[in-house]
Amino acid sequence: FFKSCQPPPAEKQKQSIQEVRRSLPIFPYREDLLAAIREHQILVIEGETGSGKTTQIPQYLLEDGYTEGGMKIGCTQPRRVAAMSVAARVAQEMSVKLGNEVGYSIRFEDCTSERTILKYMTDGMLLREFLTEPDLASYSVIIIDEAHERTLHTDILFGLIKDIARFRPDLKVLVASATLDTERFSCFFDDAPVFRIPGRRFPVDIYYTKAPEADYLEACVVSVLQIHVTQPAGDVLVFLTGQEEIEACCELLQERCRRLGSKISELLVLPIYANLPSDMQAKIFNPTPPGARKVVVATNIAETSLTIDGIIYVIDPGFCKQKSYNARTGMESLIVTPCSRASANQRAGRAGRVAAGKCFRLYTAWAFKHEMEETTVPEIQRTNLGNVVLLLKSLGINDLIHFDFMDPPPHETLVLALEQLYALGALNHLGELTKVQKNYKCSEEILTIAAMLSVNNSIFYRPKDKVVHADNARMNFVVPGGDHIVLLNVYTQWVESGYSTQWCFENFIQFRSMKRARDVRDQLEGLMDRIEVELCSCNGESAVTAGYFYNTARLSKGGYKTVKHQQTVYVHPNSSLFEEQPRWMIYHELVFTTKEFMRQVWSRPSLCSSF
Ligand code: ADP
Ligand code: MG
Repeated sequence: FFKSCQPPPAEKQKQSIQEVRRSLPIFPYREDLLAAIREHQILVIEGETGSGKTTQIPQYLLEDGYTEGGMKIGCTQPRRVAAMSVAARVAQEMSVKLGNEVGYSIRFEDCTSERTILKYMTDGMLLREFLTEPDLASYSVIIIDEAHERTLHTDILFGLIKDIARFRPDLKVLVASATLDTERFSCFFDDAPVFRIPGRRFPVDIYYTKAPEADYLEACVVSVLQIHVTQPAGDVLVFLTGQEEIEACCELLQERCRRLGSKISELLVLPIYANLPSDMQAKIFNPTPPGARKVVVATNIAETSLTIDGIIYVIDPGFCKQKSYNARTGMESLIVTPCSRASANQRAGRAGRVAAGKCFRLYTAWAFKHEMEETTVPEIQRTNLGNVVLLLKSLGINDLIHFDFMDPPPHETLVLALEQLYALGALNHLGELTKVQKNYKCSEEILTIAAMLSVNNSIFYRPKDKVVHADNARMNFVVPGGDHIVLLNVYTQWVESGYSTQWCFENFIQFRSMKRARDVRDQLEGLMDRIEVELCSCNGESAVTAGYFYNTARLSKGGYKTVKHQQTVYVHPNSSLFEEQPRWMIYHELVFTTKEFMRQVWSRPSLCSSF
């Protein structure tokens, strides 16, 4: 009898998902929110992280008829991982297959179809959609989510969407943000009303260290183990700055747990960062088995973009990785810097979602007060604007000086971007887009090189315990000319191996990165095909020079000096030209890590005669 009364498992799960939906802080405000959206074209929505903004609002809109007539609801996310993970969650809540009614679109990965009506995407992807659909006619609602992150793309979207909202009165615009900065958004959008979703928040006790920590990674590991041994049940969230740190921290934790063996209860160590394969990413959401404790080691993606239930303890070393740009030298650097007080407070808040929590700040109360900035500087003020300028120009926006920026970029950054595009022949003397088509008959090679450069220096695999083997394998790919040609060589050999996994394994090449490079290349090839650029092959030498002559450096007293700014720079030790030190070089990018390095360099004897 009991058996037959039990609902089938799938039905049971669906029920509990609906229960979870109804228990979210946003749920009691569903009707008021929909009414406010009906009444106002632009609405700013403020709500604590985890209140249900990202996963629920699009579903409410769908239930309220906003997708009738085949219209779409779009929701932007600054981070790829968030776009994918949130779409997956919503598809699950709606019991549909991801990619059908609910989909996501991130660069080089389009998981949508004609049936898609709820579309999650990165802010960069929505920007690109303006190229094919300048009035976003297929959307009834655009949600700019995580607006407080103030990424470059989100900031540009603000200006563009504000503009199209004027001549598309039927378009609803929702600007969703954690509890930060909402008055500024309202002000920018002509005093749009702010809808506040009161959060449910438990108190979080904050602890500081008495003295600064010399090694915050080690301090994290020790803190996690201390919590595990001394504190009541509850999961732990650790904030680190990037993949390498996160992997190191996870390894250390696992090793120490192994050594402690059965003296301690089970500790599940789970990393989360942008490049982590998605099946691994999904693991952080699995409920912790009874008796065990979960520790999630994350980048600041877990600050507001993703909500992990069950977190009671937060460990915050107080750092993040930040891009900064020097318009005078053109140097872009990614450096670990103290995070802002606003970030630190968001991080602490993660501990108080399900019960009273604790946040361990691995810095002093004095540092919090005196060494951290109040808020993070918007990305638009600390980045190279070349790509954005090109995009805006292709949208027909010629007067960038008067573009409606919420916070305008520094004047010199904008001027430098225009100057570089002019020098490349992409803009004419009036600042208009040209139809430049460098014709060096080498599109095949350049496509490969561009695709390989885009996978972010993650081609070569160099595990700590096999450094010598890995470096030898890498040396086998070296060919004269420099790193671009090495990348081309790697790709060509991989193609010849039949895209083999085994080949990658034997040659210490990361298969995942190669696969991604192939996807990127396919997509670029498709674009070339669409604009009818012929694919042809010879050698890419002059094309690299023509495109990157701006980035030339000359050998000088042990290092190099850039031609444009006479700045001292060095060849990156990973480069195939590290030993050779040719007289002239072209670099793909300058990065500052321990010193100013040129990454991905190129050289040819013929270069000397060009100058
Ligand atoms: P907000 O956007 O307001 O920060 P979300 O809509 O992202 O909130 O999350 C609301 C709730 O949905 C979370 O508290 C969590 O319970 C649940 N949730 C979100 N994403 C996932 C996921 N990938 N897996 C499981 N639960 C999730
Ligand atoms: Mg959200």
